[in-house]
Amino acid sequence: MLAGMRPGRGHPGSCGRAARAQAGAVPRGSGGCTGGETPSRSASMLAGMTRPCRQRAPGRVPAESLPAAASPAPIRAAAREGSMTILIQGTTIVTADDADAVLHDAAIAIEDGRIAALGPTADLRARFPQAEAIDGRDRAVLPGFANLHTHLGMTLARGVFEDLSPPHRPPFCGGLSPLPLPALSAEEHVVMCQLGALEAIRSGTTALLEDGADLARHAPAMAATGLRMLLTERAWDRTGADIGDPSPFAASEALAERSLGRIAALHAAWDGKAEGRIRVGVSAWAPDMCSPGLLRRLADLRDRLDAPATIHLNQIWGEVAAVQAHRGMLPTEYLAESGFLHHRLICAHCRCMAAVEEKILGRAGAQVSFNPAIAARRGLSPRISVLQAAGCRIGIGTDNMAEDMVEAMRTGLFMERIRREDGRDPAPEEALRWATRNGYAAMGMPDGGWLAPGNKADLILVRTDRAHLVPRLRIVSAFVHQGQAGDVDGVMVDGRWVMRDGRVLTMDEPAIIGAADRIARAAWSRLFAERPDLPRPAGFAP
Ligand SMILES: [Zn+2]
Repeated sequence: MLAGMRPGRGHPGSCGRAARAQAGAVPRGSGGCTGGETPSRSASMLAGMTRPCRQRAPGRVPAESLPAAASPAPIRAAAREGSMTILIQGTTIVTADDADAVLHDAAIAIEDGRIAALGPTADLRARFPQAEAIDGRDRAVLPGFANLHTHLGMTLARGVFEDLSPPHRPPFCGGLSPLPLPALSAEEHVVMCQLGALEAIRSGTTALLEDGADLARHAPAMAATGLRMLLTERAWDRTGADIGDPSPFAASEALAERSLGRIAALHAAWDGKAEGRIRVGVSAWAPDMCSPGLLRRLADLRDRLDAPATIHLNQIWGEVAAVQAHRGMLPTEYLAESGFLHHRLICAHCRCMAAVEEKILGRAGAQVSFNPAIAARRGLSPRISVLQAAGCRIGIGTDNMAEDMVEAMRTGLFMERIRREDGRDPAPEEALRWATRNGYAAMGMPDGGWLAPGNKADLILVRTDRAHLVPRLRIVSAFVHQGQAGDVDGVMVDGRWVMRDGRVLTMDEPAIIGAADRIARAAWSRLFAERPDLPRPAGFAP
């Protein structure tokens, strides 16, 4: 909590954001779901980061202490591993197939990035005698998690923004946090994204949707993580205001053009790269940040690129008030009117939603990213069972300041049971499907997130010889209710090990953790030194 701070304080006027959010500038300080938009420092400062500099800004982390942005050698080694047959045997396999089948004393064969076979260990050993055999005892094989909505660089605000949500009642003044996000250099931003990717891998994530502006900055480092990613480059054309601000909508044609150009450029540079692991999609920031004209142009671009699209939808009550003020309708109605609503649209949040909007979304067959951990932190909840019954597909996202899909999956089950006042529904098998298979399908990959012959070999190994997972009677229930990210000790994407025996193979984990801590502490210290008017959160590190 912030000492002496009440909701809304620190937002003078219509919210004093106009001066800050100049046309062309990425709005800062909106925090929350604005992730991935840490502003770049000037070119001269960037140049200064590339060599030792005794006269750097106070507190700035020297460039030479940053870890290498990418380490291609382990990726190449992993690629060689992917070319042989791998047989994980004597294990428990959670398939997440239509029957929720769990195979005991079973094996899974992996060839050329795909699942070649599943079945009894003895049968598969006879069928694949040359395979590299991996002992799967005391392990369970699960499909990898698909994080359907995140902003990796928002790790910068961990421990700060979780307790600074905007109010749910008027007056709404915009923004998702009263504190701005500190500025970082491009190199520093990459490290914070690598930190997020490490946490994602360690919690069993194999695919994620990364939303933000200027994703080209960290795309090379993200490709090097070995993860599968859908990079959705963000568009908006509202100027002088932040998300959730009902003040008049001022549109900027320059912002619109720049947004459309960034999406097209990222798609041209990255779609299908890293052996197809990287895909590029279209992101509209939020209904109150995009004019009807921009939404129509984004729909055209989505169709032309044949790409998935995403948007923050009905995220906070200030957004609903803003769209009602600007358009005279509700956010989901506005998307439908403007032609942006589509069955391939991944709608993040869907919390502050009227019954009529749930029906509209369901009729469109839209994809919903249920982001339960941030929803709980904000004190809001979507009506997941209603959205599902209306026709939406439900996936799970972590959103800001966290990448832990084990926690998000469990929080999703908990939140829905509380909201439904039902101690049985949703079942753990359903929560697992949201977090795996549904997320893959929402991102346009129906052959991922569940284990069956021919599907993508995107899977995780979970240690089951743990005090909190024994007795091993119903592994899905035990893991959804009691499992921890630390139980994950193997992660495979496209048949290649990204983490094995508890070691991340694609990144220098200690170097990134150390650098990220130094970078974030220095950045926040700089911000508070430059802005003594900002209240420091209680217990803030010196
Ligand atoms: Zn978000």
